[in-house]
Amino acid sequence: MKAVAVFPGKPNSIHLADLPEPKVDDVPDGRGVLVEVLRVGVDGTDKEINDAEYGDAAAGYDFLVIGHESFGRVLEVGPNVRGLEPGDYVVATVRRPGSSIYDRIGTYDTTTDEAYYERGINLLHGYLTERYVDDPEYIVRMPAVLKQIGVLLEPTSIAEKGIEQAYEIQRRLKVWRPQRAAVVGAGTLGLLATLILRLRGLEVTTLARTEPPTLNSELVEALGARYVSTRRMTLKEVAKEYGPFDIIFEATGVSIVAFESMEALGKNGVLVLTGISGGDRTIEIPGDHIMLGFVLGNKVAVGSVNANRTHFEHGVQDMALAEAHYPGWLARLLTHPVQGLHNYEEVIRLLTEEKGAIKVFVEVNAHV
Ligand code: BGC
Ligand code: ZN
Repeated sequence: MKAVAVFPGKPNSIHLADLPEPKVDDVPDGRGVLVEVLRVGVDGTDKEINDAEYGDAAAGYDFLVIGHESFGRVLEVGPNVRGLEPGDYVVATVRRPGSSIYDRIGTYDTTTDEAYYERGINLLHGYLTERYVDDPEYIVRMPAVLKQIGVLLEPTSIAEKGIEQAYEIQRRLKVWRPQRAAVVGAGTLGLLATLILRLRGLEVTTLARTEPPTLNSELVEALGARYVSTRRMTLKEVAKEYGPFDIIFEATGVSIVAFESMEALGKNGVLVLTGISGGDRTIEIPGDHIMLGFVLGNKVAVGSVNANRTHFEHGVQDMALAEAHYPGWLARLLTHPVQGLHNYEEVIRLLTEEKGAIKVFVEVNAHV
């Protein structure tokens, strides 16, 4: 069976590999779910793995099959699987439990283990292949009406987790009625965060570098949110004009933005950092101002990575709600389809060169 893989540690080693056929009994206790892969989305993480910035091979292999944003259809289930049957549309979660207490209670997205296991990213093969098998604990069902946009569930789960973290944390305030939010970054994650915050009824300002109009700015405005180019206004100016912000959701991976957000955050506000800053830059920041604002304003900043089953389930609910409030909006994010696993070079080219791309995805099987 074909799969798109890299040799971890070797830059630009993307290639077509051969994997043994998965079988339902590869998972113990009759709990195997065999899934046919229909679509797989890609993102900066896949590009960085191909650039050998991180990612380790799967045990017993010298390569790692990439792809962590899956969408597929159940082919066969083991005798002890409940709630999933052949024909169901499904998405698999990414991380698998390690050994910390958090892993053991199902919240593997908050593991404290040094090494983490993520399908398609680290130590476990991903979904850019024809079929995979897994335990139903890691497989989330999607209604067939969402099949055209199902591949967006994994990135939605990341936004979902970040926003849920904010609400969880703010229970400290006894009464918290957030009204205004800023989202920094208008790529897939920033757009999905804008959507979820709008679904919660917040007034949202989304910032990105590029001057409007772009597809991204149009998508922001289609949600009734405000798009601002940071070439026109700094985050601080935006906060003065359209804030105070109860929530700032960072989705850029640029570290200076994290500190600018700390300064722009309103009193009692919460800042959610989700961007993965791969570099090792040293930056200068107005430390005294930021610290004073944080202390006198009772502010919180939280980092958020990955997502567990619950966040995927809430993602399905919000995607359905999004179709009700903003029909067709999610499908507009699917800008760049690539036909077939053999076109992996086109995937990397689009991730590297296509500035207008929102979501690049591979049509592994044209059945969708
Ligand atoms: C994935 C997450 C993952 C993170 C760090 C992201 O691209 O969507 O599931 O935890 O990378 O590896
Ligand atoms: Zn990702």
